[in-house]
Amino acid sequence: MANKNPRLTTSAGAPVSNNKNSLTAGRRGPVVLSDYKLFEKIAHQNRERIPERVVHAKGWGAHGTFKVTNDITKYTRAKIFSEVGKETPLLMRFSTVAGEQGAADAERDVRGFSIKFYTEEGNWDMVGNNTPVFFVRDGYKFPDFIRTQKRHPKTNLRSNTAMWDFWSLTPESLHQVTILMSDRGLPVAPMYMNGYGSHTFSFWNNQGERYWVKFHFKTMQGHRHYTNEEAKKVIGESRESYQEELFGTIERGEFPKWKFMVQIMPEADAEKTPYNPFDLTKVWPHSDYPLIEVGEIELNRNPENYFNEVENAAYSPSNVVPGIGFSPDKMLQARVFSYADAHRYRLGAHYESLPINRPKSPVAHYHKDGLMRYYTDNNNPDAYYEPNSFGGPEADPSVEEPPMKINGDIGRYEYEEEIDVYTQPRALFNLFDDAQKERLFNNIAEAMGGVPTEIIERQLAHFDKVDPAYGDGVRAALGISQTAAQ
Ligand code: NDP
Repeated sequence: MANKNPRLTTSAGAPVSNNKNSLTAGRRGPVVLSDYKLFEKIAHQNRERIPERVVHAKGWGAHGTFKVTNDITKYTRAKIFSEVGKETPLLMRFSTVAGEQGAADAERDVRGFSIKFYTEEGNWDMVGNNTPVFFVRDGYKFPDFIRTQKRHPKTNLRSNTAMWDFWSLTPESLHQVTILMSDRGLPVAPMYMNGYGSHTFSFWNNQGERYWVKFHFKTMQGHRHYTNEEAKKVIGESRESYQEELFGTIERGEFPKWKFMVQIMPEADAEKTPYNPFDLTKVWPHSDYPLIEVGEIELNRNPENYFNEVENAAYSPSNVVPGIGFSPDKMLQARVFSYADAHRYRLGAHYESLPINRPKSPVAHYHKDGLMRYYTDNNNPDAYYEPNSFGGPEADPSVEEPPMKINGDIGRYEYEEEIDVYTQPRALFNLFDDAQKERLFNNIAEAMGGVPTEIIERQLAHFDKVDPAYGDGVRAALGISQTAAQ
């Protein structure tokens, strides 16, 4: 009987006559070694997993559009911002940091907030978080910090002790710890949270002038969070609450939106601010550097295939475009290296030519062979080195970034003691109303379950320096009397 469905084939395209029964010697077996169709099927299943991301393994994503609503061309020549009304396609991926791929969505954790803008001069990846700061200011500390968020080598359980031991010995983490333990540490779903580039980046314009810039993405759905109690109930009912909410909302045609805003600092100001503007544990106060509107982001299309379009999506802060650059932020430099490195390991050397990562602008380079190399050469096969006389791609000096002015001698600077780690967490603490403070204290107390007293005391001393009411509030939530603690 004629079949309307496509004909089943092997991966080499040969038609398959039977997709249920192995090739056997006799009705009762055994299977013969020449049943390559059986082995192909099983071998493929064995290879369906790629290494999950060491951090940000659990993710949710969607396609969308960025539209310029305000002219910022005096700061940057990036073509994505070249005119009001211009639209650029994008792919967003949100994630939790610590949990593995099967982790529950509604867990208290920082959220990744990444945007791949497919601009006409290459992909610009804004690889941010839902927090404007981070736990550490130097990439040298990052692997240790992440170790404290992951499983203990012996128990294979996550360890509150490791977390608070590290945090209490690394007081630059106070600002981010306060955000994590506050209401915003547990959003209801990706569309109810802000995003931040967090690092200081730079803009440079057609006149070769550099500005320092911070990126902000303000939710237009309003902030919504779960309390710990609410989240426990949600996780009891569904471990996939973010995926359900994001996918379902877009499927219903209700498209989440964010206002894209920037803070701009003239290059020379970096010498004058009372805080290091390249320190990832600090914000720039809005009163010093007000938010400037840039445009609007809308998510409006669900991926057709999660693995192809979200798991394979490879974001890296190294993906910048002419008009956007880095800053002296040392954590940023570590990330510029580590993300691309992680993708080469996870997806292979040619991960940028996977359909979801491939720029929508022309790509022409001299990288050669390697696993999964399948893009074609630069039109002329003789142009496979540089310089050449055969019409191969040439560098364009007009996109040369202006030199970055750096002062200082090379060294490993430990400047913890000189740096004020308390003022900005205090400004944040002062934003909280009484009920928010109460939830902060309780969330911290809950997260300190099983932590040795000396570590708790060390951390309480930091809270005291932010505000005595902060330390006392946590003591009360822990059931420790004030006098006993002093
Ligand atoms: P502003 O009062 O001008 O801005 C406060 C900022 O804090 C807004 O961006 C607001 O985001 C955000 N915010 C409000 N409530 C909370 C909350 N409960 N938890 C976390 N963030 C919240 O103050 P400053 O710019 O002087 O900053 C004061 C403190 O605010 C900082 O120390 C920092 O902790 C925090 N903050 C500052 C940001 C900045 O870039 N300056 C960005 C985010 C937080 P929204 O408008 O979306 O409500």
